[in-house]
Amino acid sequence: MAFSRRDFLSTAVVGAVSLGLEGRDLEAEDRKKSDPSTSDSAAVAGKRPIIISAGNGFDYLDDAFAFLKNGGDTLDAALRVVKGPEDDPNDDSVGLGGLPNEEGVVELDSCCMHGPTRRAGSVGGVRNIKNVSLVARAAMEHTGHVMLVGEGAERFAVAQGFPRENLLTEHSRKIWLLWKETHSDWWGPGLSSPNWNKRLPAPPHAEEFERRIERMKQVASDIGIEPEQCMIAIRKVLFPPTGTIHCSALNEKGEISGTTTTSGLAWKLPGRCGDSPVIGAGCYTDQDVGSAGATGSGEENIKVAGAHTIVENMRHGMSPLDAGMDALKRIVRNYNGDMNRLRFIDMVYYVLRKDGSYAGVSLWDGYEPGKPHQIAVHDGTRRAEKTLSLFSGVSQEWPPLLP
Ligand code: ASP
Repeated sequence: MAFSRRDFLSTAVVGAVSLGLEGRDLEAEDRKKSDPSTSDSAAVAGKRPIIISAGNGFDYLDDAFAFLKNGGDTLDAALRVVKGPEDDPNDDSVGLGGLPNEEGVVELDSCCMHGPTRRAGSVGGVRNIKNVSLVARAAMEHTGHVMLVGEGAERFAVAQGFPRENLLTEHSRKIWLLWKETHSDWWGPGLSSPNWNKRLPAPPHAEEFERRIERMKQVASDIGIEPEQCMIAIRKVLFPPTGTIHCSALNEKGEISGTTTTSGLAWKLPGRCGDSPVIGAGCYTDQDVGSAGATGSGEENIKVAGAHTIVENMRHGMSPLDAGMDALKRIVRNYNGDMNRLRFIDMVYYVLRKDGSYAGVSLWDGYEPGKPHQIAVHDGTRRAEKTLSLFSGVSQEWPPLLP
């Protein structure tokens, strides 16, 4: 029998509650986290030039920082960082090799903002073109529009000289096949609906869950997924992963720009755009204030206009840390603090103020134990720092066994 996403969420909710993860003193934790002496990556005094990015940008910071320091444009520097994961077939969250939509087609989203000229560009749902961050810049530079989507965006990219190529790697195709065969789906009420779990069957007991995992292992083996990749693939089927890269760059003159690029939520409906191509949600830069970007649950971030909210918070005097935490609390407010659902939301914000102070904040510590969310930073020294989280714990307990 098919094992749907909603079956699984139901199972995992019970597991989470049994672990006592509901109900936290958020105010007390936030006070603690606002105290720089207790912080891993509290907003630091400004240093320029500086580049910040999601953790998967770490390997590409040296080159971009040298470029920026030598007078390179801030947006061009940020694009150098995100192009790395876009080109990397082994990063299955961005560009080439990204996990596909429910029909097995990779669809990419991206946007950018250039602070010095106060311009923006965006593309959504683009197929067959790997470097959509550069297509977003091309839309900004070579059209009178801000946002292009779907087939029109692809045709524009080809006209601009971007090559069409197959973005689906064997690795991603096999995980998609596993998802298809063991079957989850996005149809029906989502997490934010009052009916989100009303149509769920009773959650399976631990033994039933184990049987389902065994069946998935068999299907994975038949598909040709390597044994050591099997449980990783099963997790990706059961917890459709998000994954993206954001980067903001600030030069010595105080010019600032930002970009975000992604293959979006795995197994999404064709045509689904998340927050990454939405100016103000996945990325927002204001030359007078600073820049912010997001990775994580796009639907949630769109509803709080996360990146714009953060920049506006800083405009009104908040530190990067407080500005990011406030946006996270708006997501919590949208769920009335319901930990049974917040449990399945991931959100990370990367925040850079015009004075060079920065912060990385997240709803949870990470996706899974031992793998904290990270912000990568280069201000002369390249480093990766843990984000500060609003809630302790991870958003994907594994295995999600019943008590
Ligand atoms: N925010 C992206 C989206 O929802 C995914 C991610 O950041 O992981 O499409």
